Amino acid sequence: MNAHDPGTSRSPGWARWLGLGPAREDERAPRPAQTTDTQQEPAESPADKRRRHVLEDITRFLMGHGLPISPHTLTIAHDVVTGANPALVRLVGEHVASGAPLTVEWLEETVRCDEEESGARQIHALVRKLEGAIAQFGCTATAARSATTSYNETLAEQVDALGGIAPCQEASSAIEALTSVAREMLRRTRDMEREISRSERETEALQRSLEDARREAEIDHLTGLPNRRAFEAVFEDELALAKDKNEPLCVAFCDIDRFKRVNDTHGHEAGDRVLRTVAQALAELSNDKCHVARHGGEEFVVLLRGSNLATACTVLDETRETIAARRLVNRATNTPFGRISFSAGVADVHAYPNRKSALRAADEALFRAKLAGRNRVIAAGQDDWNGFRVIPPDPASGTAA
Ligand code: GH3
Ligand code: MG
Ligand code: MG
Repeated sequence: MNAHDPGTSRSPGWARWLGLGPAREDERAPRPAQTTDTQQEPAESPADKRRRHVLEDITRFLMGHGLPISPHTLTIAHDVVTGANPALVRLVGEHVASGAPLTVEWLEETVRCDEEESGARQIHALVRKLEGAIAQFGCTATAARSATTSYNETLAEQVDALGGIAPCQEASSAIEALTSVAREMLRRTRDMEREISRSERETEALQRSLEDARREAEIDHLTGLPNRRAFEAVFEDELALAKDKNEPLCVAFCDIDRFKRVNDTHGHEAGDRVLRTVAQALAELSNDKCHVARHGGEEFVVLLRGSNLATACTVLDETRETIAARRLVNRATNTPFGRISFSAGVADVHAYPNRKSALRAADEALFRAKLAGRNRVIAAGQDDWNGFRVIPPDPASGTAA
């Protein structure tokens, strides 16, 4: 921090600006002379008290974490202490609980990711809404076209019938006029029918493009697995289905162990290949009742419907064992990667009030699996359960990644 950085300023200036410190002598407004001994300061209103508490909390937050004071950190501090951004409150809480220092860089990165995520969520919701509106329009157009077609057919029959009548003298001109009006109507409704058919085809094409775009936005391009956003939608549907069918539902976080070392030793590209290999192994679990997605970074999420906690742990432990038993070799350099393993935390979704709490429980179990030495699967809420821990010996043969 440099001396001119306003953030380094611990001078009373900022505190005064926040209304928390004593004003400098030269800035102090002259107090009105007291007229009687009993004259008192006006009582603080509840609104003023709340504002003062917010300011005090902001100050405590910034000072407590040694953060500079800038418009950006003030905004963040405000959102945290007032709870205006619940996602940020949770992330900051977790970060502080982990014992890691709260830095400006970390806050900026976290806020940026949070904004990107919420922007992407909004776009996704809009695309879904648009898809719904287009589908609705498609139905309306189809209904209008079929109504026009049948109306046209009837009209055409009637016009033919009118042409075939031998009119008596008086009705002749009236029938002729009616026939020509009907012919004109027929011509126009046929044009309309063609237009509606064209709109229908365009709507169908638009529907297909939107569907493709949405599918594209839900895929993680490195691994080919569904991404976190897609997973959230699946989780919602699967939870409803599990409740409906009275089936167990478990969710698991799987995080590759010491993955940073792979990148540091073999480079990012080799790291990507390892990521893909682990993703493929996990993807083999996928079926109607098991959904695997890349949650982000080197972390995957697995949803298992119809499996209780013990079964879900066994299923994941088998995959963990399969991966850990492989001896992966960097095909670019022919050097072994060493054992690649993952740790997992599994939670019984029905044991928690909502999806978010279940995910948090799985994440906490994953954290315990890491603390306990990695390469293992731990069930949430099973403190006395050592979980699964099978560390196979290194096999001799290798597989290129
Ligand atoms: P731990 O066992 O505690 O999980 O250790 P770790 O090294 O796996 O965890 P850490 O969070 O320290 O590092 C994760 C690394 O994963 C850092 C990041 O660069 C890397 N990573 C995240 N996404 C990708 C990716 O798409 N490709 C590659 N190659 N690396 C990635
Ligand atoms: Mg990791
Ligand atoms: Mg990780």
